[in-house]
Amino acid sequence: MIILKTDDEIELLRQSNLLVGRTLAEVAKLIKPGVTTRQLDKVAEEFIRDNGAIPTFKGFPNPYGGPFPASICTSVNSQVVHGIPNDEPLKDGDIVSVDCGTFLNGFCGDSAYTFTVGEVSAEIQQLLKVTKEALYLGIQNAVHGKRIGDIGYAIQNHCESNGYGVVREFVGHGIGKDMHEDPAVPNYGKRGSGPLLKKGMCLAIEPMITLGDRKVYLENDSWSVRTRDKSMAAHFEHTVAVGLDAADILSSFEFIEKVLGE
Ligand code: MG
Ligand code: MG
Repeated sequence: MIILKTDDEIELLRQSNLLVGRTLAEVAKLIKPGVTTRQLDKVAEEFIRDNGAIPTFKGFPNPYGGPFPASICTSVNSQVVHGIPNDEPLKDGDIVSVDCGTFLNGFCGDSAYTFTVGEVSAEIQQLLKVTKEALYLGIQNAVHGKRIGDIGYAIQNHCESNGYGVVREFVGHGIGKDMHEDPAVPNYGKRGSGPLLKKGMCLAIEPMITLGDRKVYLENDSWSVRTRDKSMAAHFEHTVAVGLDAADILSSFEFIEKVLGE
């Protein structure tokens, strides 16, 4: 069932999502060769709790194993999503996708950003650029009267025309009082297909894009998802509210980009 949100509820969602953006900016300040993803997780959890929110990912149940043990997902290089923070230092040339979720004033925030560590190759920089562009092309279609398939088509078309793989096994989602609500928001699809978009629908749009083949597998930790061919993967995510003329982006990369000097 798709739950439409009132304007007041959308403002509460915005507060939660802005906190995610500010948390990712705190993480961005620390990312450099030698730092561990566990250190990033510690800073993120403290920042979320200091701001009166709960990290929604921590303890999140898993049908395949134990609950998620951390407050952020940190997916390094060929990991696509759901990587578990650990004590392995990040290296020059790595990329790390950081996904963060908060629960504040009864509503969920959910946003993700792929960061570079030190100097990365032009090939990887291009993957990140195209994935972020695809996210915004998807968001342009989160408009009243369009359909879910219009979002997926825009993302898929941009990424595949650049030669990249679009992961099928994991998708975006509705979001509100629960982190995962209906509808599913695939990063692929046909124009004019799928559920009708209506003002007040709130969606997490999150392309997961691979430099090589799109096929992925679940690692032995029952969480981390990695490309089968070990090619690099990028993940950018915004939470948005469907609007009459344009989507309202509730999360924000502005805090991150200020830290990164972009
Ligand atoms: Mg997320
Ligand atoms: Mg999400």
